[in-house]
Amino acid sequence: MSKGTASMGKRGRKIVHIKCRRCGKVSFHRRKGYCASCGFGRSKRLRSYSWVRKKKSRN
Ligand SMILES: [Zn+2]
Repeated sequence: MSKGTASMGKRGRKIVHIKCRRCGKVSFHRRKGYCASCGFGRSKRLRSYSWVRKKKSRN
């Protein structure tokens, strides 16, 4: 299935990620209890990895 209108029918099933209290993104996993974006609920510190950075200013 391609992205676009055709796949929109699959939307709105089970809610897996809800709005995160810390980063505000809809990345907080309900069952797991932590945010996939900032790591809220998993660690005190903000989730951050070096590979997250966008490709910019190499050297
Ligand atoms: Zn978060």
